[in-house]
Order: sequence, then structure tokens, then C-alpha cells
Amino acid sequence: MNISDRSFVSRGEIAYSENKNEIKTISGGYLVCEDGICRGAYAELPEQYAMLPIYNYGKQLIVPGMTDLHTHAPQYSFRGIGMDAELLEWLNTYTFPEESKYADIEYARKAYNYFAEDLRRSFTTRAVVFGTIHNEATIELMNMLENTGVVTYVGKVNMDRNGGENLQEQSAEASIKATEDWLMAIDGRYENTMPILTPRFVPSCSDELLNLIGKLADSRNLRIQSHLSENKSEIAWVRELVPNSTSYANAYELFGNMGTAERPTIMAHCVYSDEKEMEILKKHGAYIAHCADSNMNLTSGIAPVRKFIDAGINVGLGTDVAAGSSMNMLKTILITLQASKMYYRLVDTDVKQLTFEEVFFIATEGGGRYFGKVGAFKEGYEFDAVIIDDGKMFSTRDMSIRERIERMCYNDADVVIMDKFVKGRQIYGKL
Ligand SMILES: [Zn+2]
Repeated sequence: MNISDRSFVSRGEIAYSENKNEIKTISGGYLVCEDGICRGAYAELPEQYAMLPIYNYGKQLIVPGMTDLHTHAPQYSFRGIGMDAELLEWLNTYTFPEESKYADIEYARKAYNYFAEDLRRSFTTRAVVFGTIHNEATIELMNMLENTGVVTYVGKVNMDRNGGENLQEQSAEASIKATEDWLMAIDGRYENTMPILTPRFVPSCSDELLNLIGKLADSRNLRIQSHLSENKSEIAWVRELVPNSTSYANAYELFGNMGTAERPTIMAHCVYSDEKEMEILKKHGAYIAHCADSNMNLTSGIAPVRKFIDAGINVGLGTDVAAGSSMNMLKTILITLQASKMYYRLVDTDVKQLTFEEVFFIATEGGGRYFGKVGAFKEGYEFDAVIIDDGKMFSTRDMSIRERIERMCYNDADVVIMDKFVKGRQIYGKL
């Protein structure tokens, strides 16, 4: 056995997704971590792990860390305000002016410090993050995220059109040159912070830039993240911008931005992705980052997540700060559930609402898979865990672990994170 400071047993009320339809729970169970790797959850501690230190969490919940598959670090500063516009107006009124401030490294340092520290204290153990077009600020963000211990992909944003004079790169070549400089500056620098190519969305990137990004991804073996089919005006605009595309997803595909199963592209939203787009997403092994909070706030619509799951497309959840108003994944789970219920009731009664089991799975292992064996307490998975005290949620009922997990997602007001581990390393808490 590999005994290190990342080898230990956690004892408590364990819950994780066995599969998308089943949450496995063990009361007073033993969760084994060997050098950062999970060796399973047990009702009785197997003999061979008896010599490991045991952290006894009593009645506290132990759940897998969650994956936030889509968020914007520079927008954290205006989370929860400016929710009165739809996407394109929201970008021009609130987002682009705020992101332009990150040309100032002092401003960036201050703002990113809040983001990184709050991420460390959240339910999130893995995240895929947009920066801005600015190299210096994005590197500062990566430095800070590396220090948190959360595992992330971070993107310097590419945009060479429609950003206004303050948030636009000079040309496609200039944008790619800056991206190459950024990649060189961070090469070999981090253990847990990976770069990801980040064309903002089709309206922000010329054909030439998207093409060059596709080529760079292939030649450097890099992944790509972007936005897809979020809002009706946006989709109509993309149709004008790339008239030879058969769909918005096809526009990315034409320029080599849809990735491969080994280097999956993340597409945020997909609110209006039809069968044709779903086929493209599936063919490339892409991940949909479903951002229900954001889609409500900007009145974008409701993504048919049930259809994506049934079609076998990879789905994770994104908070999409700041169109999403917080980085709290429990809140994102709640709104995902509520949105799917309203899709069923108001849009299409043939599309059944998501179950709690399904959404808990998507939040943990569904998005976690983007990072490998992540998001469940199964043998060989990387050990990401959050220990939660819900003892202040008084009830006369004798609650099962399954009920407590559901309750904390529907009502997180009195839920406290006690400890948090990523790859077996404690990155937050009291231990
Ligand atoms: Zn976004």
C-alpha cells in the first residue's frame, strides 16, 4: 500500500452516485483514500486499511466534490446585479466594460483574489474557468487558483470582433500570438491548473481566428471551451456571421473547434440545441455545460437536459457566474431541478423532468468525468470530497442520508462545509 499524507480513512454519513439513477449511501461508513486515490466506501473497514489514520466525522455528510464546468472569474465582481437584460445587451452593458478593467493588473489581482478564495471555500473541487483577453491578469488568476488546490482549466479569452474598443484584440493573428505567449509563460508552471483555449463565442471571433484556434488546439493537444445556442438573437446573429453553416454547432465544427473524445470541447448552454446540434455534440464527444441559473436570469430559456442525457451526450453543470448569480453548486442543482420541471410542464410533457438522482450525478460524476475518474467514491477515482454539517437543519423527522442530501440541495441555508479534499489533499477546513 502507498502510505503518504494523502492516505487516510474518513468515517461518516457517506453518499455518492453509483450511477445516474442511484445514490449509494452508507451510514457510519468508512471511506478510504490511498495517496489521493479512492479505494472505496465500506460499511466495515477492510483489514488492510486498519493502520491508516481515521478522521471521524460522526453524523456529518461526506459527498464527492462538485465540478463547475463553466464559470467566468472576471465577472464574479458583479455577481447578483445587472440581471435586467438579455444576453447581447447584458454583455455590452455590464460584462464587456467590467472585463476591460482586467487590463489593470492591480484591479485583476484584487478581484481574482476574491474569486479564488471563495472557490476554495465552495462545494466545487474542479472548475473550468474563463479569464479575459488579458495575459497578465489570466496568469495571475492561474497562480491564485493553483494556490487554492482546486483543479481547474483556465482560458485566456480570444475575441477579435464585436467587443468594442476596450475589449477586442487587434486581429486574428494578434489574438493567436497573445495566446501563444500566454501558453509559453505558463508552460510547466502548475500542477493543478491547465490551460484551455477559449474563443468567447462565434460573434466575438472572426472565421480566421476560429480557424487558427482549431489548428492551435490540434497542434498543441489543447482543449477548447466556448458558448453555444444560448439565446435566440445570438443564434440569428451567428447564422448571419457564418452563412454557410448548417447550425451554430456546425459553425464551430467548420473551424475545427468541436474537439475530440480525447480532447472534449465544452459548450456552455445549448438551450436551443436541436437534434442536428445534438448529433454534432455527440459525434465529437463534447460536454454540455448546463447553466440553469444563468439561463433563468438572462431569460435565455430552458435547455432540454433530459434529451441530452437520453441521447448519451456528456452533461455537467455550470454556475456561469455572473449571468449565474453565485458559485454555489447546490443552488445550481436546485435551479436545474426546477428548470427541468418547468420544461416538462410548460414546454413538452413528453420530456420527463430530471430526477434528483440524475442531477446529483451530473453535478458530481457527470461533470467530473471531464477531468478523468472524478466525482464518485469508487475504486481508483481521485479523492475529491466535501464534508458537510447539516446539524442546524432541525427536524422532528428521522432523516435518511438520501433525504439529507436532497434537503441540502433544496435548502442550503444552514449547511456548513467543514472540510474539503482534492486528490486527497485537504484544501479547506478544520482538520
Ligand atoms: Zn458563460
